[in-house]
Amino acid sequence: MLSDRIKRLKAYKTERSRAKVRLSSNELPYDLPEDLKGRIAEEIRKIPLNRYPDPSCEELKEVLADFFNVKPENIVLGNGSDELIYYLSIAVGELDQAIYIPVPTFPMYEISADILGRPKVLVELDESFDIDLDRSLEVVDKVSLAYYAYPNNPTGNIFSKEKIRRIRDKGVFTVVDEAYYHYSGESFLEDALSREDTVVLRTLSKIGLAGLRVGLMIAREEVASEIDKIRLPFNITYPSQVAAKIALTEGRDFIEEAVRTVVRERERLRNEMERLEGVEVFPSRANFLLFRTPFEADKLHSELLKRDVLVRDMSYLPGLDRCLRVSVGKPEENDAFLEALEGSLQFLTTSEKST
Ligand SMILES: *Cc1c(COP(=O)(O)O)cnc(C)c1O
Repeated sequence: MLSDRIKRLKAYKTERSRAKVRLSSNELPYDLPEDLKGRIAEEIRKIPLNRYPDPSCEELKEVLADFFNVKPENIVLGNGSDELIYYLSIAVGELDQAIYIPVPTFPMYEISADILGRPKVLVELDESFDIDLDRSLEVVDKVSLAYYAYPNNPTGNIFSKEKIRRIRDKGVFTVVDEAYYHYSGESFLEDALSREDTVVLRTLSKIGLAGLRVGLMIAREEVASEIDKIRLPFNITYPSQVAAKIALTEGRDFIEEAVRTVVRERERLRNEMERLEGVEVFPSRANFLLFRTPFEADKLHSELLKRDVLVRDMSYLPGLDRCLRVSVGKPEENDAFLEALEGSLQFLTTSEKST
């Protein structure tokens, strides 16, 4: 019989609707250039697909170590950082000890706790979406693990480093999920390399390689080797290992340039959105923008979809009513979104007045 714990779970919600302009999953809007994809295809062709891949991903780890400026021994690889979130929820503390999660945030932290039946301590962020330190310190007594998305998804801001450290001082193992590191430049890497109670998560998903499913945990060697014990032995496929290696070496300049373009576009998009009446845009250090309008989020979401633009409705999360999240796209996609947003707001304003 299936466990009640599992029957109670809600499946992770992804956006499946079709649209020409897809700005719903915080992917990099640029695919690798054709010549580089040709190189990847060429190398993948050489893979003996009847063979298991290198379980320790040695060559890929060398490349990642260089790319992220750490040592291979500091890295544990995951099939996306999502898998590492599972591993950490299994490995840190005991299963009857709670996990602290400041909300609203990335749903995988809660999902991993629910799968394991671990208690959760959810503390709502304050009005500027920063950690509510006083309330957090009151409730972290029985907590052994904390997750911070840094910058936070979907609010886009960076939490106070000091507050994260103050909570950690209570004996809380601290996971800093830096999925958007390339857009923020802010990091807990030094803490992760100098302390056994802090690890950093990074991923290739938000810098153009979401299809490969490669995420990494960066930690001191003695922590990394323990977590590595529970990693499924062949969790990174052979093609992913080969493709990631090429993309991060031969494609490095391309990726870095694309990230710079997105950061520039983020600021332009934010300025343009702020000019629209009734739209409140929150500052972002990531590759997306959270915004609130006077209208129900699901109505605006479907108006945008009618105009062939897909964004993410975030109003189901605590404190985010009437909020949506738009990923920063290519300049022409952002223009299409702006036009669709303006049209949708006009339509909703007129239809409200007529009822
Ligand atoms: C997108 C995202 C991830 C997912 O990363 P994968 O490596 O694709 O599994 C993890 N954390 C946060 C905060 C994210 O927004």
